[in-house]
Amino acid sequence: MAAAYDSGNIFAKILRGELPCNKVYEDDRSFAFLDIMPRTPGHTLVIPKAPARNILDVAPDDFAYAMRIAQKIAIAAKGAFSADGITLQQFSEAAGGQVVFHLHVHVMPRFAGVALLPPASRKEEPEVLAEHTRRLIAALA
Ligand code: 5GP
Repeated sequence: MAAAYDSGNIFAKILRGELPCNKVYEDDRSFAFLDIMPRTPGHTLVIPKAPARNILDVAPDDFAYAMRIAQKIAIAAKGAFSADGITLQQFSEAAGGQVVFHLHVHVMPRFAGVALLPPASRKEEPEVLAEHTRRLIAALA
């Protein structure tokens, strides 16, 4: 049986406005914001607004919609950061690498010959995140 969704997770708190974030996109079904410990400049997380722990319990339509927005962010990010490529990742359950238990899709701009930083290796400076947020929002406009 799938584990239950816990509404106390960090991303649920961000969605409710209880914790701050660098928002780059929002509509009635999805929300996207910068990862606080980016593995590459512009590392963005796309989440459905509907509560879902991960790919094992998300409603198919909610997942499909989040992926549609991930594509939108990917295209904008490639331009905003002059990236050579994009990597998407989605981790489900601890054994799958998941740390925060509200479904999210990582959208990561990639640069030829540059490896991703390991997960959670360093917190980015707030002013850098703010500048990257502005760049992404402009590219999405
Ligand atoms: P997971 O391994 O669950 O797929 O990844 C969780 C991601 O959330 C990590 O990349 C981590 O850096 C990011 N993260 C953890 N806490 C916060 C936070 O408070 N705010 C933001 N924006 N990202 C976070």
